[in-house]
Amino acid sequence: MPVDELRALQLKKLQTIVAYEYDRVALFRTRCDEKGVKPRDLVTLKDLARFPFMKKTDLRDQYPTGLTAAPLKEIVRFHCSSGTTGKPICIPNTKGDIEVWTDAAARSLAMYGLGDEDVLQVSYGYGLFTGGLGLHYGGEHLGCAVLPTSAGNTEKQLMLMRDLGSTAIACTPSYFLHVIEVAKKADIDFRRDTKLRHGIFGAEPWTDEMRRKIAELSGIIPHDIYGLTEISGPGVAASCPYCESETPGLHVFEDHYYPEIVDPETLDPLPDGEEGELVLTTLDRFGTPMIRYRTRDLSRLHAERCKCGRTIRVMDRIKARSDDMLIVHGVNLFPSQIETALLSVPEVEPHYQIVLTPTETLDLFEIKVELKAESFSDGISALEALRKKIFAAVKQITGLSPKITLVEPGSLPRSEGKIKRVIDNRR
Ligand code: ADP
Ligand code: ZN
Repeated sequence: MPVDELRALQLKKLQTIVAYEYDRVALFRTRCDEKGVKPRDLVTLKDLARFPFMKKTDLRDQYPTGLTAAPLKEIVRFHCSSGTTGKPICIPNTKGDIEVWTDAAARSLAMYGLGDEDVLQVSYGYGLFTGGLGLHYGGEHLGCAVLPTSAGNTEKQLMLMRDLGSTAIACTPSYFLHVIEVAKKADIDFRRDTKLRHGIFGAEPWTDEMRRKIAELSGIIPHDIYGLTEISGPGVAASCPYCESETPGLHVFEDHYYPEIVDPETLDPLPDGEEGELVLTTLDRFGTPMIRYRTRDLSRLHAERCKCGRTIRVMDRIKARSDDMLIVHGVNLFPSQIETALLSVPEVEPHYQIVLTPTETLDLFEIKVELKAESFSDGISALEALRKKIFAAVKQITGLSPKITLVEPGSLPRSEGKIKRVIDNRR
């Protein structure tokens, strides 16, 4: 769709959804009134910046359904966030909401190159979490043969993957690392023994280095998929082949989800090209519409058109949530910086844990790193040299001096869903 038409469509949908929300959701109406803004003030897309934000705490405060705009008879499904950062929130969806989301998930899969000849193994958890059902419906809609394994029971996953010829797997990148490990132990080589070609990874931050590591270890193409329960689920944004090879990023399905980037401190809108907090407005959701929802995910919208020809904008891959930021020895630190540093060291496995412990003086900042089996059996002096090398890699990227603890391969916890890599004992 030409950009002008897309902007006109977005404006029309925005006017509808803002008026609908104003009529039906008391909290939104009160906040608009406080700001002295009415739905009819939304004349151009820029006017959206005059409207109030919504936050996760609003959903929590209004738990379970205080922000629901549609009557129960129109609701067909509830989803709840996985509660990574606290009490879950609850999002009722109408039939139409599910259809829009299904369409967005199917588009993502099509963009990766999947079609009706593909067997899609959905190893995201099924249930309140949106990962499983979102990709399940999207896959069926596209005509894929969906294999709904859900997460866990990795040996069985591998058996079904081989027997049914899965060509794609959808799960968290951290769970796929575990799948790779279990496959290796069972002497399964993805290239030789399976038809697996695509990985559809999201639900947690993962670095470009991790993306390359996964490709190297498994031979599949790792694709990025972004989404959140509040806005629908996986398929709010997805990477095209150009985003994967050249400028790492994801196309936002802007005809359904209107993106803004704001300064996380001042909350002022930022122009394309500047990094800040991603704010999303749902354009076609009527169960629980979200107007200017602050995702707390940090990204940037690209001003340039992607080479694939799509007119919807590309955003940066999500490196972190603003609330993942740690302050260590007075320095701001994102776990993704540690991941980048560690994966630059070839002897290291992509499994690590960051542990922060208060002491009488300076907090203890420790990074536990798994070594490859062959490196772990080296002599003490070789291990010491390796420890220094890892320390230098982290110091170079973060400026910090962590305690590096080398641990045995397989000794850190693995996850079936979102992995917890930071243990902050200071809180
Ligand atoms: P919770 O907030 O409880 O984790 P969700 O399951 O809805 O709830 O997770 C959505 C969040 O997961 C996003 O806001 C984002 O922080 C993270 N996320 C989802 N997809 C990606 C991705 N592709 N890359 C990085 N982070 C992601
Ligand atoms: Zn593209």
